[in-house]
Amino acid sequence: MREIPPTAGLPLEWRDLWSSSGTSLETGLADFLQVSDVQITCSGTAAQIVTLTALRRQSARRKVILPGFTCPLVALAVLHCGLQPVLCDLLPGHFDLDPDHLARLCDEDTLAIVATHLGGRVANLAPLLAIARRTGASVIEDAAQSLGARWQGVPVGLAGDAGFHSLAVGKGLTTFEGGVLLTRDAPLRQRLLDTAADIAPFSWRWELQRSAELLGYAALYRPCGLSLAYGWPLRRAIRRGRLIEAVGDDFSDDIPLHRPGRWRKSVGARALQRLPAFLGLLKRQAETRLQRLAAMPGITVMRDAAGDEGTWPFLMVLMPDRAARDAALDRLWQRGLGVSRLYIHALSDYPYLAGRLSSEQTPNARDFASRLLTLSNSPWLDDDAFDTVCAAL
Ligand SMILES: *Cc1c(COP(=O)(O)O)cnc(C)c1O
Repeated sequence: MREIPPTAGLPLEWRDLWSSSGTSLETGLADFLQVSDVQITCSGTAAQIVTLTALRRQSARRKVILPGFTCPLVALAVLHCGLQPVLCDLLPGHFDLDPDHLARLCDEDTLAIVATHLGGRVANLAPLLAIARRTGASVIEDAAQSLGARWQGVPVGLAGDAGFHSLAVGKGLTTFEGGVLLTRDAPLRQRLLDTAADIAPFSWRWELQRSAELLGYAALYRPCGLSLAYGWPLRRAIRRGRLIEAVGDDFSDDIPLHRPGRWRKSVGARALQRLPAFLGLLKRQAETRLQRLAAMPGITVMRDAAGDEGTWPFLMVLMPDRAARDAALDRLWQRGLGVSRLYIHALSDYPYLAGRLSSEQTPNARDFASRLLTLSNSPWLDDDAFDTVCAAL
C-alpha cells in the first residue's frame, strides 16, 4: 500500500547519516539564507520560547498577539513563558492578520505580534510592521513551514525583529525535531544565544530519543513506510472521531527544551545541500497544479502577492463552505493521497486552550478553519494520483 505524506518533506538518503558535508548546519543555513548567522534550537516552538523569554526579560509588557488560526503550539509557547496570548482575527478568506483588529488590540502592554507565513505562503508584513513600530511591540515571524520563502525579496524571518523556521518532520528539511532562529539585530542575537544556553541545556535522554526518531524517519519516509508510520494511525484516529489526534494537533503543555546534538545537525547539513533543488521541483509542480485547481468552480487556491515568493510543501485550498470541505474530505482523507486538514480548529476552539486565551471573537479565523483543505505537494503524488484528487473535488 502506498501512502503519500500530507506535506512534502525532504527525504533523507542513507549517506546523510554518516558522510560529511564539510560545513555545519549553522553555516549551511546562513549561506542559504544569506545572513551572517543562525541559531539552531530543538524545535520551532523552542525558538519561539527562547525569543519570548529574551524579550520578556527586557520588558514589563505581557501580551502576545497571535493569529486566530495557527498551530496551537504557538499559543502553548506563549503560555509556557507566563505571557498572555491575545487572538487577532484574520482577513476574510485569508490567513493574514486583520490590520484593523490588530491596531485595536495592540497597546502599551503588547510585547510581541506573531505573524505567520502559513504553509509556505507569505504573509503581508507591511501593515503589521507599521502597527508594531507605532506601539513599540516586537514582530516575530512564524516561518515554521516556510524555509526558503521571501517577503518582498527579504528571506522570511528577517523582516521582523526575530523569526523562526521549524525542522520538524514533514516541514521540509528535518532533524526530526528542530528549529532555526533568525534575527538581524546583533544585541538581540546575543541575548537569544544566552537565553537558549540558560533554559535549554544539552540532554542525553532527549538527544538519544530524537536520534532514534531521525533514524526511523530515514527508514520510513517513503510511500510504503508511510502507510505504517502515518496512514495507519491516521485512519484509526479518524475512525474513532479523534480529529485533533488525526492531524497531530494533540499537544501538551510539556514542551521539551534542550540543545540539539552534533550528529543530528550534521545529518541536516548534508540534506540541506539538496534543499534548493527540491524546493525548485516543488515550485514547478505547484505552478501547474494550482492552475488546474484555480480553473475548478467553487475552489479558491491560496497564492502569494506580487513580489513575494513562497515555498510549496502543500497546496492550500478554500472550499465554498464547511459542508463542501467535509464532503471532499469524506471522499479523500483516508485514501492515502495526501489530502488533509491543516489545524483542526481556530485557536479559540481547542479544548486544551479553553479559558487560557483572551476572549476576542475571531469569526474569520473560524470560517477559514472550516473551509480549508490541504493537498500534498509531495513529488510522490504523481499526475495520475493528482487527477484522482481533482476528480473527487
Ligand atoms: C509546526 C509549526 C510550529 C511549531 O514548530 P515545531 O518545530 O513543531 O515546534 C509553529 N508554527 C507553525 C505555523 C507550525 O506549522
